[in-house]
Amino acid sequence: MHDDLSSSRTVIHRMPARGHYDFATVAAILDAGFLCHVGFVVDGQPYVIPTCYGREGHALYLHGSSASRMLGTLAGGAPVCVTVTHVDGIVVARSGYHSSINYRSAVILGTAEPLAAADKAAALRVIVERIVPGRWEALRPVRDDELAVTTVLRVDIAEASAKIRTGPPLDDEADCALPIWAGVIPLCVAAGEPLPDQRLAAGGDSPESVGRWGRK
Ligand SMILES: Cc1cc2nc3c(=O)[nH]c(=O)nc-3n(C[C@H](O)[C@H](O)[C@H](O)COP(=O)(O)OP(=O)(O)OC[C@H]3O[C@@H](n4cnc5c(N)ncnc54)[C@H](O)[C@@H]3O)c2cc1C
Repeated sequence: MHDDLSSSRTVIHRMPARGHYDFATVAAILDAGFLCHVGFVVDGQPYVIPTCYGREGHALYLHGSSASRMLGTLAGGAPVCVTVTHVDGIVVARSGYHSSINYRSAVILGTAEPLAAADKAAALRVIVERIVPGRWEALRPVRDDELAVTTVLRVDIAEASAKIRTGPPLDDEADCALPIWAGVIPLCVAAGEPLPDQRLAAGGDSPESVGRWGRK
């Protein structure tokens, strides 16, 4: 189902060799993070809003307050563009022209469908598990009043693209003779030491999922 996600709208024109349209590549980029940017248009004005997501199969879930303009607009059927970006390194070239970034990014186009009340908790679980794997089971169960004020949307991952740059600077051959340092500065997201909340109750759960986070 939907293994080729390409369409006339997702064709990458610049550096097309860096483009990928298979579901596995897009899914791997989504599964390496939890922050996306959601693009939509209201009254002719584009907005690009950062938010969290979860993925399960071909479903990408977004959630938030039922009062959110973003979620309300999307629930009304507005076209959406969801983008996920990971910066893997700064490519320091011998010229500004060839200076670049190593990255993995995915762009998903479509429309969103609001989930029925009975389906919300399962989707919220996917989002929570995306951010802190293993956390859902440790949480106090979600209440009906919380679900009532939470909108959860599903975007089908059916039309998408991925773009990946890896490797060293692609300097002009003649520039390589210049006495200018060039190379790659690797970048990654690193977890700090977890800071326990001051109101921690005695005898609480062992925060295995929290400790595991940095070793993902
Ligand atoms: C961290 C980072 C830094 C970048 N810096 C620059 C920069 O400084 N200048 C610059 O011109 N470009 C930069 N890019 C590349 C940029 O994202 C576009 O790929 C580029 O502008 C060329 O777009 P296009 O004209 O081929 O595609 P467009 O015609 O703009 O888009 C057509 C379709 O291609 C797909 N697409 C385009 N870009 C991407 C992408 N990155 N990931 C997944 N799908 C994509 C989408 O499905 C889109 O609908 C950067 C990308 C990343 C991730």
